[in-house]
Amino acid sequence: MTADILIVNARTRAVIAAPGTTAVAWRDGIVIALGDDAAVGALAGPATRVIDARGMELMPGFVESHLHLFMGGATLTMLDLGTTFGFDAVAETFARAATDRPGDDLIQAFSVHYTVFGEGTRPDRHILDRISPDRPISLMSADLHCTWANTAALAQAGVLHGADVGPEAEVVMGPDGLATGELREFAAMNRVNMLSRLQGRDGLDYRPAGPVAESDRSYDCEVIRQAAGYCAAHGITSAVNMDGNAYQAGLLRDLALAGDLPVRVSLPLRLVASDGPAGLAMLDDFGSEVPGWLRFDRVKMFLDGVWDTWTALTTSDYPNRPGFRSQPLIPQDTFDAICIAADARGLQIATHAVGDGAVRAAIDGYAAARRANGPRDSRHRIEHIEAITPQDLDRLAPLGITASMQPLHPPGAAGLPLQPTVSIMGRDRWPTAFPWRMLKDRGVPLAFGSDWPVSPIDPLLGIHACLSRQPWADGMPDQRISLDDCLLACTRGGAYADFSAVRRGTLAAGLDADLVLIDGSLDGLAESPDAARVALTVCGGRITYGADSL
Ligand SMILES: [Zn+2]
Repeated sequence: MTADILIVNARTRAVIAAPGTTAVAWRDGIVIALGDDAAVGALAGPATRVIDARGMELMPGFVESHLHLFMGGATLTMLDLGTTFGFDAVAETFARAATDRPGDDLIQAFSVHYTVFGEGTRPDRHILDRISPDRPISLMSADLHCTWANTAALAQAGVLHGADVGPEAEVVMGPDGLATGELREFAAMNRVNMLSRLQGRDGLDYRPAGPVAESDRSYDCEVIRQAAGYCAAHGITSAVNMDGNAYQAGLLRDLALAGDLPVRVSLPLRLVASDGPAGLAMLDDFGSEVPGWLRFDRVKMFLDGVWDTWTALTTSDYPNRPGFRSQPLIPQDTFDAICIAADARGLQIATHAVGDGAVRAAIDGYAAARRANGPRDSRHRIEHIEAITPQDLDRLAPLGITASMQPLHPPGAAGLPLQPTVSIMGRDRWPTAFPWRMLKDRGVPLAFGSDWPVSPIDPLLGIHACLSRQPWADGMPDQRISLDDCLLACTRGGAYADFSAVRRGTLAAGLDADLVLIDGSLDGLAESPDAARVALTVCGGRITYGADSL
C-alpha cells in the first residue's frame, strides 16, 4: 500500500507516541503507518507527497471541547477589545471603525472587560454616547453574557424605555427611568444584536419564525465557513459546538456535504427551562448527520450565568449581599426531568454551571438520570466549574462526569483582570475555583476548550495560561497541571468527552488522519505564549492549514 501523504523528520513526545516515532503516513484519510522515517518512508509511491517536518513536533489534531462556531465567526468581523483598556483607546478603535465601515448598521465590539473604563466604572450608555453620539454601537462583554449599547442603539432596538425580555435576562434600568445601556443575558443582548447584519441568527436562542431568505442563509454559511477555517488555522480538527438549533444544523450540513468544513463539528440541541423534556423533540428537526463530520447527539443547558453579573448560582451568600445566591435558570425538578429524558434517549448532556450552586444542581440532575435509567457510559459534562464545594468535588468521578474546562477563563489567566470577578465570587470560594488539579487528582476526565469567542481560540495560548497560572493569594492551592496532561486534555481527553476516542485524539494506525505539526517548543509555553505555533493542520487526511512553507 502506498501513502497519499507522509510526514518525515518530525519529533514526538512519549505521552503521544512510541519512542523513535518520527514519521506518519496516511491514505484515504486514515493513518496507515507510524514509526521511524525509514519504515514509514517505504510507503512512498510515485504520487505520494512527502512533507519534511524539519524537526517540528507531531501531535494529534486538537479537539476543542467548547466553542461557539457561529458567534465566533461573527466576531471575526467585530472589533476585538480583548487587550484594550481606557476610554481613549476604545474611542480611537471605534473612530477608526466608523470610517472603515460606513455600511455597518451597528458597530460591534467583543471581548470587552467589565473594567474596560477602569475599576469601579461600569460601562453605560452615557460613556458610550461620548464615543458615538449618533451611530449605534455595542460592546459585548468578554464572558458573552452582557452587552453595553449606546443610546442610539438602545433606541433603534426599542429597549431605551425598558423591555420585557423574560425571567432569564434583563434590560438594566437607571434612576432616570431609561435603560442604563447594560443588557444582561442573551434575550436582552439579542435585542441590540438584531441591528447587525446577522440579525441575531448567530444567537444561542435563535429559532426562526419562518423561512430565512436565501441571501441571509448563504451569508451565514460563509460566516461559519470562515469560523471553521479559523479553527483549522489553530490546529483544531474537532470542534464541540455549545449552542445548537435546527437552523445551524442545516447550515453545517450543507457545508459538510459540500466538503467545505475543514473541522469536524458536533452540535447540541440547546434547551431552556420552558422547553421541558418535550423540547427534546426539536432534535428531530436537525435532520441527518454527516458521518465523520457532523453529529447531533447532545443537549446543552444553562443552569446559571456568570460572576460579573451576579448570575452565577451559589450554595452560600455572595459577599456583601446577605441572603443573595442568584437563581437557577432551570428549576431543579425541570432540569432533572430533562436529564432523565435525554439520558434515556442515549444523549449526552452538557450543562453550563459556573457557580458552586449550579455545579451541585448539575450533579444532582445527572444523578437523578442515573437513578431513573440505570448506570451507562453517559459521560455527561459540566461546562466551566468555576466554583465547587469540596464535598461536590468528590461526586464527579463516581458518576462518570466529564469536566469541560477552559484554561483561559480564570481571572488573571494570560493577562485577564482579576477584578471584579474574584471579589464578587468571594474569597471563601477561591481554594476550589477552576480546580483543574483537584479534578485531575480525583480521576475526573478533563477536556479543554476555549469557549471561543469568549476567549481566544488558540489551544496553545490556553496551554500557556494553564502552565503559567498563579494563585490569587498566598496559601491558595496550585491548580496547574503538567504539560503532558494539558496536551491530553486538548486531544485524547476531548475525544473521550466527545465519544470519538476510538477514531481520534491519538496518533495510531487505523485512526483518522487528524494531526498537527507544531513549530517551536511546547515546553516553552510555560514561559511564553509565543514559544510554539501551529505550522500544519491535517483533518481527515486533507491539509486544512499551512504546508505552503513545508
Ligand atoms: Zn460557552
